[in-house]
Amino acid sequence: MPLVTLATALAIAKEKNIAIGAFNIGNYESLKAVIDCASEEKLPVIIQIFNRLFNDDKARDFAALVKVMAENTDVPVVLHLDHGKTIDQVKRAVQYGFTSVMIDASDLPMEENIQMTKEVVAIAHSHNVSVEAEIGRLLPKGTVDCENFLTVPEEALEFVKQTGIDALAVAIGTSHGFYKEAPFIDLERLKKICDLVRIPIVLHGGSDTPDADVQQSIRYGIRKINLATELHKVYIDATAVQAEIHKTKFSPIDVYNVPIYEKMKELVRQKMNLFALRS
Ligand SMILES: [Zn+2]
Repeated sequence: MPLVTLATALAIAKEKNIAIGAFNIGNYESLKAVIDCASEEKLPVIIQIFNRLFNDDKARDFAALVKVMAENTDVPVVLHLDHGKTIDQVKRAVQYGFTSVMIDASDLPMEENIQMTKEVVAIAHSHNVSVEAEIGRLLPKGTVDCENFLTVPEEALEFVKQTGIDALAVAIGTSHGFYKEAPFIDLERLKKICDLVRIPIVLHGGSDTPDADVQQSIRYGIRKINLATELHKVYIDATAVQAEIHKTKFSPIDVYNVPIYEKMKELVRQKMNLFALRS
């Protein structure tokens, strides 16, 4: 089916009381693994392209590829700009056919965050593209006093009211990448946010976050969970295994990549079932 907007996909998630996996892809194999898994599991999926891939033509090329793959799949697929940093990236995403953008101005003071986000909402909504924005900040590595970074529920409500966004990313103790120590996820804070803010809530830093916390966060109202690091690690590790096997043997790259694709599918399937509260 044609690509759908983030708002459409998250409405399905809300109805089913599940979260949808948002996977950062970086090459054909990772994209193929995610879309094939979604199709097999009969679940909507969000394909995320990180802002770095807008530094050259990659975002444009992936957009064309994702569009064709979505059209040949019978589950809803969203194409989303992850951590958009500039208005130019947002405009290019719209031009390339993305159906959703994130604008991340969360490191700016609240008033400036609101202004930039409003500008993005005006551009995106006029093209039927959804907008995710963020308030609060994910914890930088090694943060001890996290209070200053976490999302304040009342501010979240005000931010949503003023900007008109479709989904809100919050900071509740997760961080990007792997954790050195088990994280403290502030689920009570999340519950307060979800009770106040009536739009879908997004969890960044899904990698390596304990399954029990992930599932409880979904029960409270998380509807989109971002996953990058774990998927990329599986790719790197599986590629290393193939490199060892192929020291003395040649395979064409499509054949070489099959076991790597299969390993990524294993992880994606496990995460999709976790986010759908099936396991
Ligand atoms: Zn993120």
